[in-house]
Amino acid sequence: MKSLPKIFILFFLLFVLIGPASAAEKLQRVKRIRFYSHRGFTRVVLDVQRDLRYSSRRPSSDQILVEFPQAKLDPAKCTVNINDGLVKGAKGEQIGKSAKIIIQLQQPNLKYAIFSLRRPPRLVIDVSRARAGAKGGTAVEEKGLKIKTIIIDPGHGGKDPGAVGRRGLKEKDVTLDIARRLKRNLDRDGRLKVYLTRTRDQFLPLRKRSSFANQKKGDLFISIHANAAYSRRISGFETFYLCEAVDDTARAVAARENSVLRLESSKNPQSMGSDLEVILWELKYTEFRTQSRELAQLVQKNLDRRFKMRNRGVKTAPFYVLRKVDMPSVLVEVGFISNLGDEAMLASKSHREKMAQALAESIISYRRKYEREKGFTR
Ligand SMILES: [Zn+2]
Repeated sequence: MKSLPKIFILFFLLFVLIGPASAAEKLQRVKRIRFYSHRGFTRVVLDVQRDLRYSSRRPSSDQILVEFPQAKLDPAKCTVNINDGLVKGAKGEQIGKSAKIIIQLQQPNLKYAIFSLRRPPRLVIDVSRARAGAKGGTAVEEKGLKIKTIIIDPGHGGKDPGAVGRRGLKEKDVTLDIARRLKRNLDRDGRLKVYLTRTRDQFLPLRKRSSFANQKKGDLFISIHANAAYSRRISGFETFYLCEAVDDTARAVAARENSVLRLESSKNPQSMGSDLEVILWELKYTEFRTQSRELAQLVQKNLDRRFKMRNRGVKTAPFYVLRKVDMPSVLVEVGFISNLGDEAMLASKSHREKMAQALAESIISYRRKYEREKGFTR
């Protein structure tokens, strides 16, 4: 430990001698501006080089000023006309070492939220129709205050069997059976409209599942899957919702569930990375993340209460099928088909029925909680 102070002194000297000079030459960049007009709000996105320090304020009631104290921008790339009823446009300016963006609003005192996201690094400014200080106004709140339409998505199907167990149980059959039972359980409630993305053993591309859900104007999307792992000892159930931050095991599950993209048409799945789609994804996942997480938690709680299987918890991962749906969404992995114990349970009708009941309970308690929070009572 004695040598530590010396190292600090050395670093300090290096910083003093080299740091400021190179920092002055290498100011971080605000690369460009993009925007997306959504029902009820406008999203302005600033692509930045990496996590940049920033501040924001209102110089007047119809302006938002975002300031990066140590950054460079090209005004041409950071200026845009929007004129969508909420935001007139944005203008980039370089004043000394500070980069400024002025967002001009079309109405005074509109509410705004500002936050940064990673991969790619960017700063997001959401301007919503609600007045500052007023309640509500986000896309979720405007989307509709009732939970009425439920979309159940049985994973895989047709030429895509999903995971296959050692005793031959196929994921596609388990997911379809649980989905049908879930629909029956939800139909009993009498207040919900319930749709299945597929009702038979049929191949269905992921994008068709999400576009079906969006067409039906679903209020909730639940995708049902069964997991597989190289290690046969791994067992249990887990529920995912969409998020950027993922751990490696979650990434592996997402890779497996997304692999069906290879079976889909010749279209390159990489094309989903286009600018517009990146923005749409941002919208969906930030808007619906809280609701999706709540639903995921309820699902895990209800499954845990009913089953002795291992509770693997709520996780986040970039599932393609969840990315594309315009509503709160979760993906439930009901067990590991690669584990003999789980496979035996998943093969049993009574287990699937209990599973469906637990999922139905979760959806109904989510609806109660959500509608109570939004001021609806039965
Ligand atoms: Zn699956």
